[in-house]
Amino acid sequence: MIALPEIVDWLKRLDAVYAEQKDFLSALDSAIGDGDHGVNMARGFHAVAAALDASPPADIGAAFKSASTALIKTVGGASGPLYGTLFLRCALAFAGKTELDLDAWTGALEKGVQGIEQLGKAREGDKTMLDAWFPALAALKAGGGLKEALKAAASAAEEGMKATIPLKALKGRASYLGDRSIGHQDPGATSTFLLLDAAAEVLG
Ligand code: ADP
Ligand code: MG
Repeated sequence: MIALPEIVDWLKRLDAVYAEQKDFLSALDSAIGDGDHGVNMARGFHAVAAALDASPPADIGAAFKSASTALIKTVGGASGPLYGTLFLRCALAFAGKTELDLDAWTGALEKGVQGIEQLGKAREGDKTMLDAWFPALAALKAGGGLKEALKAAASAAEEGMKATIPLKALKGRASYLGDRSIGHQDPGATSTFLLLDAAAEVLG
């Protein structure tokens, strides 16, 4: 089971993770975008941690709601509303819950990823964060123990992230580059891998 304090620890860990990876993520975005993805994620998750400190959530739904609001408010780029929507869908799925099992975690993330699809209209292979999310969801659905499934999801996201390198971007700012987007790793797929890698570490 995943309990509320672990969810809060994970969200706060993401503040540190994105602060550490800020320059790397922005460098990836400089190659095929406007170079702000690291700054966006670091700013967003710093605001998430601050919001959780300012008003400790009573349940897991409230933690995700608070995170969603902070992300939508503070992240300027496309990724803010996309991650914000993912977290908002999770907030709805987790309303009133103080503990989650693997099924609940997987079901909520699946709804969250559907939210990203509805908002961004991207498909598999378009070279976006979805190319990390889809294989991660498949790994979670394969089940097993919680710890193993979270690890498998992070590994699958990492593979998906690497697999964006040869792809041509068909959505978002990188799509303006056309063929010149080929040969570069997608920044959003990379931030998604980092999010799931931290989940495997903290929640597993
Ligand atoms: P912006 O592109 O507005 O500068 P960011 O740099 O923060 O925003 O985020 C860029 C990332 O957002 C991309 O690497 C990609 O993974 C993701 N992204 C952009 N557009 C979409 C979309 N329509 N659907 C899913 N993900 C997207
Ligand atoms: Mg950008």
